Amino acid sequence: MADALMPPAHPFDDDKLREECGVFGVVGVTDAANFVALGLHALQHRGQEAGGIVSHHPDHGFNSARRFGYVRDNFTKQSLMETLPGSLAIGHVRYSTSGSKGQTAIRDVQPFFGEFSMGGAAIAHNGNITNADALKRELIERGSIFQSSSDSECIIHLMARSLQRRVPERMQDALRRVEGAFSIVAMTRTKLIGVRDPLGVRPLVLGKIADGGYALSSETCALDIIGAELVREVEPGEMVVIEDGEVTSHRPFAQAKSRFCVFEHVYFSRPDSILGGRSVYETRRQIGVELAREAPVEADLVCPVPDSGTPAAIGFAHESGIPFGMGIIRNQYMGRTFIEPTEQIRNMGVRLKLNVNRALIKGKRVILVDDSVVRGTTSRKIREMILDAGAAEVHFRIASPPTAWPCFYGVDTPQREKLLAATMSEEEMRDHLSVDSLKFISLDGLYRAVGEAKGRKNSSPQYCDACFSGEYPVTPADMIEKGFEMKAAE
Ligand code: SF4
Repeated sequence: MADALMPPAHPFDDDKLREECGVFGVVGVTDAANFVALGLHALQHRGQEAGGIVSHHPDHGFNSARRFGYVRDNFTKQSLMETLPGSLAIGHVRYSTSGSKGQTAIRDVQPFFGEFSMGGAAIAHNGNITNADALKRELIERGSIFQSSSDSECIIHLMARSLQRRVPERMQDALRRVEGAFSIVAMTRTKLIGVRDPLGVRPLVLGKIADGGYALSSETCALDIIGAELVREVEPGEMVVIEDGEVTSHRPFAQAKSRFCVFEHVYFSRPDSILGGRSVYETRRQIGVELAREAPVEADLVCPVPDSGTPAAIGFAHESGIPFGMGIIRNQYMGRTFIEPTEQIRNMGVRLKLNVNRALIKGKRVILVDDSVVRGTTSRKIREMILDAGAAEVHFRIASPPTAWPCFYGVDTPQREKLLAATMSEEEMRDHLSVDSLKFISLDGLYRAVGEAKGRKNSSPQYCDACFSGEYPVTPADMIEKGFEMKAAE
């Protein structure tokens, strides 16, 4: 897939929510680390700050490499990949963890490794542990010495304290103490292990590689890149253990109703991935269809805010009959060029990455379709650019409900007071953005687009939608201790 379809990976893109991690693992192939590097490259949109790989070879034991930056800049070097031999490997890409935003140290880069009495194990975690502070306090009091600021390291220490004899059982013991969201890929000398939390908040899929190998991945797009076939999703609350070409399934947690992150459909996952048996691209297109039905407006042109607004804009244009056009063009080559911009360049802001197609916009009533509004800073600048280019009217249509609450399950969100929708009504946001109209898809509309024909069951929602509804499926214990106020019961 072209970078064009990836969520933004640039310091100016601070007006989006960001997925914090992607995980990938393979077993049963020669040079497993090379497969993992390819998988991580396909998952780069889930974290661009750093990546790591651990492999195991019977003669060379466990080996690991952790690096800052893109997978393609590190894990393509022959000299590095030769240090990661073996037919079993796991890897991780990260944005940043809750403990160290903006000051990541290499010690925070996963996978984490633990040497136990019955052998070593490495784990890579996507998600966030919502009781990590309490667990850490307890573990430190009992003598654990933490190497990183990552909440994920708690799992290794909890495993070390388990009295079970085998790694999968130790991991089960550890994860029963953990609250929050986790999709984990782990390995021992002989086993590849995948686990999802009881609600299945973050994704994890199982794939089969020709000649008997298996892969575990955050998303199906990373199975495609290594030619693996999707077998199925790891189910919420399930642990799969793969050894000697056999997959066994275990149920270590009490059964719970699944609450997959609905925002994976809207924004985080790649549009060429399959989630819950549905094409992400098709779901996003359908969100545009629902949005056009819920919030029609007379206009001349439907434009996506590239790139993540594109499928919804296509759906909106199709349903409304209004022509689709690329009124905003994204510069695909921002990369890390301006990682430390001068003040003058910083002031150019959004114009560095987006430019208006003046010939298309001039004199038109334009509908801009974006995936979300977080702080609203980018939306304001885009509106200015569109008007400067001679648009007659600007209408925003947003492919998610107002983001009014922070996420505590593995997505980087600003504090609540920085979220535009936390402090303003829809009308106030429209005035603040100075646009002719602003409409968000409703929660019911979003649920219909993801395949729930009757919309959201308010008494028992089918997804996690806490960043829109304020209804958190797992109580964020650490944040409440720090003063976060949950929404009052209605
Ligand atoms: S709070 Fe929002 S972003 Fe976080 S898991 Fe729930 S739906 Fe996803």
